[in-house]
Amino acid sequence: MKLYLRGHEDRYAVEQLQLALFPEETMEPVDAPFAGDGAVSALSRGSVYLTATAKITLHGKTAFAMRRVKRTDDVPTVRRLLQNTYYAAAMQLRQPPEWGSLSGVRPSKLTTRHLLAGGDAAGADRLLKDAYHVSPERRRLCIEASLATVEAAKRLRENDISVYVGIPFCPTRCAYCSFVSASVERLKDQLPPYLDALEKEIAHVGKLLQQSGRRVRTLYIGGGTPTTLSTVQMQRLMDAIAAHFDLTDLIEYTVEGGRPDTLSLTKLKTVRAMGCDRMSINPQTMNDAVLSCVGRRHTAADTVAAFADAKQAGFEGINMDLIAGLPTDTPDSFASSLEQVLALQPTNVTVHTLALKKGADLFFDRLRLPTADEVRQMLQGAERRLRAEGYAPYYLYRQKYMSGSFENVGWCKPGFLGLYNIYMMEELHSIISLGGGGMTKINLPGGKLERFHNPKFPQQYIERIEDVLSQKDVAFALLCRSTR
Ligand code: SF4
Repeated sequence: MKLYLRGHEDRYAVEQLQLALFPEETMEPVDAPFAGDGAVSALSRGSVYLTATAKITLHGKTAFAMRRVKRTDDVPTVRRLLQNTYYAAAMQLRQPPEWGSLSGVRPSKLTTRHLLAGGDAAGADRLLKDAYHVSPERRRLCIEASLATVEAAKRLRENDISVYVGIPFCPTRCAYCSFVSASVERLKDQLPPYLDALEKEIAHVGKLLQQSGRRVRTLYIGGGTPTTLSTVQMQRLMDAIAAHFDLTDLIEYTVEGGRPDTLSLTKLKTVRAMGCDRMSINPQTMNDAVLSCVGRRHTAADTVAAFADAKQAGFEGINMDLIAGLPTDTPDSFASSLEQVLALQPTNVTVHTLALKKGADLFFDRLRLPTADEVRQMLQGAERRLRAEGYAPYYLYRQKYMSGSFENVGWCKPGFLGLYNIYMMEELHSIISLGGGGMTKINLPGGKLERFHNPKFPQQYIERIEDVLSQKDVAFALLCRSTR
């Protein structure tokens, strides 16, 4: 679907909204007027008013909207004007989406900000309803996640940070994956030099942490699938972390087991003995036919066995991920997957919605994907069952290209908030990320953020490790100048 801007350059704001409101249409930015289907977002600046218009033509039907505000240079106000105008036009052509005109990745940041500034849940609800047209169900999720965030924020002090360590390797590549993760089947040789480089970065960051006097509160080893590492490699990695980081004040240490086929009792015991207290074991579905379809070489039985091993190894906090919208899956089969997961009684369940981004294997063309309505049924059923079992939502986020433009929600039993997920997603404090693809985010005064990217691919990371270390010096210098 074409998108042409006239009189403004906030392409991101309008593009995100168009993607969210018309997920079935391919985005096609254009820089000249056109005829036929597409959208035009325009802004004119008068001496008293800013006037925005949006004209959208789809399948031969045209909708038009105009909105104005008192002239201002305030970027968020202008952005809201453009988005509200586009939304008003779009609503003449389609049903209101669940998230209304909210198109960002972190919808709960709005309500969290409202609550942290002293507002209450009723005010947060009005904000989502009146300014963004969010549905009652999504408002409830959002506000509950924000209330959990407020609780998590109480555990933080001025100098706290969290650390992410990335292992961008997986046993095989899932068909829906758009992450840079490398399959160890293909790139086995890169693992040892990758770990060498990562150890260098761990040692360097350890020094910087000590000099800066920052406390590490949560530590997350993610991927990829970190447990793709052998038990010996896992021990080596966690030894390096323990040797160089002061973990005295750590309140949560997570390892993403991810794929059950990478977990053994010995490996789990090793990880637990190194201080990790939270494990993620992600079946995605408990339907073996669907697992096989998406190229995950494990079965539901492997997940059950890995869960039992994790319990035996002493893990209390265990998260399990499911994905709604996988190819060939149905609402009944998804509900059955959830029941099998609930029977294991994990402390956390994260319900994702499939997001098929560029980079995912194209073979999806040949498979039946659940419709947006089926995905809605899956999510509604999951919410009902999770609430009945005593779980509550504690964090949520959205991605581009999600089925039905829904969301991913982390659910937990009382007392089992996934703190790293909250701190990272709500951007409550700085996150130092190590390893290939890691993104360090330094929180600056005034709610601003500065991002530092490590090279994406393992080989680049290995080759450019000295640059990575220098960049960490810059990030920490900035961190020390900031307050939180
Ligand atoms: S486990 Fe996750 S990161 Fe690895 S290939 Fe599958 S989707 Fe990608």
